[in-house]
Amino acid sequence: MPRTRSALVIGGGIAGPVTAIALRKAGIEAQVVEAYPNAAEGIGGSLAIAANGLAALDLLGLGNAVRDIGLPIARTRMAIGRGLTQLPTLDGVEPMRMVRRNHLHRVLHEHAAATDVPFSFGKRLISAETTDHGVTANFADGSELTADLLVGADGVRSTVRGLIDPQAPGPGYTGLLSCEGRAQADIGDYTGMTFAFGRRAYALYWPEPDGQVVWGANLPSPQYLSLNQARSTPASEWLERVRETYADDEPMGRLTQLTSEADLDVTGAIHIMPPVPNWYRGRMVLVGDAVHAPSNSTGQGASLAVESGIELARCLRDQPDPASAFAAYVALRRERVERITRRGARTNSTKTPGTVGRMVMRAAMPLMFRLFDLEKQLGPELRHRISW
Ligand SMILES: Cc1cc2nc3c(=O)[nH]c(=O)nc-3n(C[C@H](O)[C@H](O)[C@H](O)COP(=O)(O)OP(=O)(O)OC[C@H]3O[C@@H](n4cnc5c(N)ncnc54)[C@H](O)[C@@H]3O)c2cc1C
Repeated sequence: MPRTRSALVIGGGIAGPVTAIALRKAGIEAQVVEAYPNAAEGIGGSLAIAANGLAALDLLGLGNAVRDIGLPIARTRMAIGRGLTQLPTLDGVEPMRMVRRNHLHRVLHEHAAATDVPFSFGKRLISAETTDHGVTANFADGSELTADLLVGADGVRSTVRGLIDPQAPGPGYTGLLSCEGRAQADIGDYTGMTFAFGRRAYALYWPEPDGQVVWGANLPSPQYLSLNQARSTPASEWLERVRETYADDEPMGRLTQLTSEADLDVTGAIHIMPPVPNWYRGRMVLVGDAVHAPSNSTGQGASLAVESGIELARCLRDQPDPASAFAAYVALRRERVERITRRGARTNSTKTPGTVGRMVMRAAMPLMFRLFDLEKQLGPELRHRISW
């Protein structure tokens, strides 16, 4: 097969624009096709970009733009009931940045436009045919586009994943629903992030420089709710639910009381991807949540999506054909993303410990931290660098 000249990137979230920018850097013409009618539609809440994600963005000249919109979180602590434990940090590792998802999308889209990556909005991929020479993608609006290859950056409910392998597993449900709120409140002078194991549910919160406190709730729920299903429930009902869940937790009980309906973002189910056997077939390949959603507990979903997009572009630049590029890309990425996903699954299982579990966690915490080898556990995640 000849060297790749053009790529169609499906999905304009995080992995999509980053992959397209990296492909341009690798000398491959890339265009992004997004199902939503515009860049910021339906986007809310915050996410963390970790040190490895920021370093990867630096390779595309995007790191500082993301640092500028992000709040650095230099310290973190754990709260179990009234017990607070400061969490250790890794020497020489840049703090993660909390960014508003819509701000991140804006920065990525602006940078993509500046590097001549065309975007089409309101086009939902429904099928694709691959030949020896290229791919034809068909969209719900009846249009079609062709390119040398197709990159599925279409998120955890990926269509491209099913086109590559109809037997591919779908996303797992962690048993947790998520929503985020913000409120003007006094929670003391701690400026870092608190991971709080409450009586009935886990939450996290952090103060912003404007005096607002942002909180994220993880609500245990046997009932799965997609983003659309979650959003069709009125905000007043969600507020009632989080207020009830955190009623006995300070400050979460107070923060949820002080949050208005307008300051609530509902995200729905938190997913985790099981290992995906086939990351590519022929001229189609997956990046980001479409192939490795490690769940929000890792704080790595977006950072891994960025890394994968860049590594895919590098492999396409360096290998003679898509088949060898895709094989090299999977060899570089699979073990890393699956290891981080396993860590996410372990953390998720601690988020609903129950009363006895909380007591055990609290008692065991000091010993756990003495035995915990932070460098061994998190060093390889956060110090990872791509050699472009
Ligand atoms: C509550 C919550 C908190 C999180 N917190 C963090 C965090 O702190 N740190 C972190 O790193 N990650 C976090 N994540 C994960 C992070 O959001 C994802 O890993 C990241 O968004 C993945 O980017 P992506 O581009 O692969 O997918 P997405 O951002 O989901 O983008 C996929 C895009 O593809 C589009 N699309 C889908 N299907 C089609 C189609 N058929 N045709 C065309 N377009 C299509 C979608 O509309 C969407 O725009 C969190 C996630 C959740 C739910």
